[in-house]
Amino acid sequence: MNLDQIRGFVDDIEATPLNVLMAHASAALRATLLKSLNGLELSTDEGLAIYTATGDDLRAVIKAADLARAEDVGEEVTYVVNRNINFTNICFVGCQFCGFKRQKWESDAYDHSDDTILAKVADAVARGATEVCMQGGINPDMPAFKYRDLLVAIKSHFPDIHVHAFSPMEIMYGARRTRMEYSDYIAMLRDAGLGSIPGTAAEILDDSIREVLSHKKVDVAAWVDIVTSAHALGVRTTSTIMYGHLESPRHVVNHLDLLRTIQKRTHGFTEFVPLRFIHENTVLFRRGLVKPQESGLLDLQMYAFSRLFLRGLIDNIQTSWVKLGVDLAAVTLKAGCNDFSGTLMEESITAQAGGTAGEFVAVDLIEEKAREAGRVAVERSTLYKKLYGRKAPNGARPIVPSPQALDNHACGGSGGG
Ligand code: SF4
Repeated sequence: MNLDQIRGFVDDIEATPLNVLMAHASAALRATLLKSLNGLELSTDEGLAIYTATGDDLRAVIKAADLARAEDVGEEVTYVVNRNINFTNICFVGCQFCGFKRQKWESDAYDHSDDTILAKVADAVARGATEVCMQGGINPDMPAFKYRDLLVAIKSHFPDIHVHAFSPMEIMYGARRTRMEYSDYIAMLRDAGLGSIPGTAAEILDDSIREVLSHKKVDVAAWVDIVTSAHALGVRTTSTIMYGHLESPRHVVNHLDLLRTIQKRTHGFTEFVPLRFIHENTVLFRRGLVKPQESGLLDLQMYAFSRLFLRGLIDNIQTSWVKLGVDLAAVTLKAGCNDFSGTLMEESITAQAGGTAGEFVAVDLIEEKAREAGRVAVERSTLYKKLYGRKAPNGARPIVPSPQALDNHACGGSGGG
């Protein structure tokens, strides 16, 4: 289906009452959806049935997800005014899905100085950002305490900016380099000004899949250990999945089930962000290990399933305009999503992997897309405090980045330490 067809498909679902759609769905799926709409937790088998629903069943799933979204979080579409800062693209890890990493001898490898990073933060602040989101490659030449020192430098100049930074992979690397336990290391970063951690580097939380995607990457046990350690220290994280590559539907369901288990224990996840795999410039694609998957229905399945399966545990389901493009992301607002992510101001992890959505979304455009969906856009902080009435001075305006300002690595990118 092309974008217009997807839009028409979802608009038709929106205009049709639930009971009509339910009447056309299979009896088993109908029972599962009613269970979810009554606020009961779904089993993994029920989740699998929802995630793999097609045809009339999928129409009922999308409708139920939209109703659950309305009941759980209302009609506001939240977004954050933020800027990505990808401080280095030098990385030795070699994830097969990453088009962002460079070896240090490559001509376009970079490792930004503190001055460059501070200039980017200054620019973000001047444009009204409340958050900077920082991730980088895993640079073998990184000084052991680099992440801490970066935080100290940023917070000493910009005490009010929220620093959302360092994926679990980077935390693992930093802890190893400093020979610290995860808890001690994260506490040190928190005390130096770390506000929250992106729950990236999750990809699919299954070690057999991870072995193929990137055998050097943080494994499931370490990922869980790091995020739960952060939560125990009062440092909240997002949660993510990268879908549309090697995984089976069962892997997806188990991934979300693991997130539910963690959330029941810690309540530390602020949001869930499904991230579509961008295949073009990746080793996985070049080696023929993945087939491109048409965007549209799979994305609707993922977002609607996420809303229903995480119901009662993670309220904020974030769409990704970076992965889907702004127009398709806007469609997902009617399939369970309530958050439009951030303005980013610069993004090129996904661009490097072949994504074409661009690097900046103006607040005006987010407001327009929310309005078109019959909703209202509301700025939020990183931790989902609503910032009613605040109008970012320049963050609302698209700015074409200078070549110097362009860097790589996006929070939630399909690359990313
Ligand atoms: S995803 Fe991150 S860790 Fe993996 S190769 Fe890319 S930059 Fe390195």
